[in-house]
Amino acid sequence: MSLRPVVALAGGVGAARFLSGLVQVVPPQDISVIVNTGDDRDFFGLRVCPDLDIITYTLAGCIRSDTGWGLAGDTFDCLGALRRLRSDTWFQLGDQDLATHIHRTARLREGASLVEVTREIAAAFGVDVELLPMTEALAPTRLLRRDAEPSDFEEYLVRDGAPDDIEEVDLSTAGSAAPAPGVLPAIDAARALLICPSNPVVSIGTIRAVRGVEERLRARRDAVAVSPIIGGKPVKGPADRLMRAIGAEVSALGVAKLYQPIASGIVIDRTDAQLGPGIEALGLRVRTGETLMQNARISRELAALTLELAMEAA
Ligand code: GDP
Ligand code: CA
Repeated sequence: MSLRPVVALAGGVGAARFLSGLVQVVPPQDISVIVNTGDDRDFFGLRVCPDLDIITYTLAGCIRSDTGWGLAGDTFDCLGALRRLRSDTWFQLGDQDLATHIHRTARLREGASLVEVTREIAAAFGVDVELLPMTEALAPTRLLRRDAEPSDFEEYLVRDGAPDDIEEVDLSTAGSAAPAPGVLPAIDAARALLICPSNPVVSIGTIRAVRGVEERLRARRDAVAVSPIIGGKPVKGPADRLMRAIGAEVSALGVAKLYQPIASGIVIDRTDAQLGPGIEALGLRVRTGETLMQNARISRELAALTLELAMEAA
């Protein structure tokens, strides 16, 4: 196994858009991505790994662009037929998407590891970036809630529509999970270590919680992040609710504070430039740029800026 010079920590949609820019400025063969698996769970006996699949489909150019998840042009006939048989059909699994989950589950049953299966799926989609699940264990994020039973992340997000009722974020399953083979060596060997614009609590926070990861990241303390918060709001998804639940301020400054122990720099949106001095006072280098990735050019320029900041530190 050869170690790759550029390593990124990633969640789902925001990360995938960023990585689609990164592959325009670095050969994909030089990139390893450590991916959150805290959202993984079984549906109807099938193992679904949302963030791994979002990144694979995005880099393969077949992501459904309006949602940022699922396959472009996919149909939902199987799910429709399942509705006749059962009521727990709230997670949108398209017909072609199901093939990925069927294959993954079959290979896991045959004794393949999640790292192997992930590599096989990426290869089948023509993706040359190395995708490493953070752990091979099932390590679901658990959310304790004011008005509902404790739930896993997809139950909270998709089934319940991400209400503002989180009391506690429980990452203990990640905390007792071993990192997947390759994760710690990738972090140690990276020339540039990047943190994608992802949920800092339930995507990057879960990766950091995996045994041994935080220690390696702190030993380097040179990761460069992109803020997923622009103008005090997430671009998409419940990062605001999750940040509030752990007592963090919902702003690029709040993100910088969370990453301070492991990072040496952060890219924030131009519209947040006034937060720069406060972030620099934490000891982080700051760059401002266009960070709302509405097209391929913006993704590419954001990736180039982030990489430049990371290489400057090296
Ligand atoms: P997902 O819910 O699995 O997609 O998880 P992520 O960890 O990728 O979280 C989505 C995060 O990405 C949210 O906090 C968004 O604010 C952020 N995000 C999505 N699109 C963009 C973008 O274009 N720019 C930036 N800066 N952040 C983004
Ligand atoms: Ca996710």
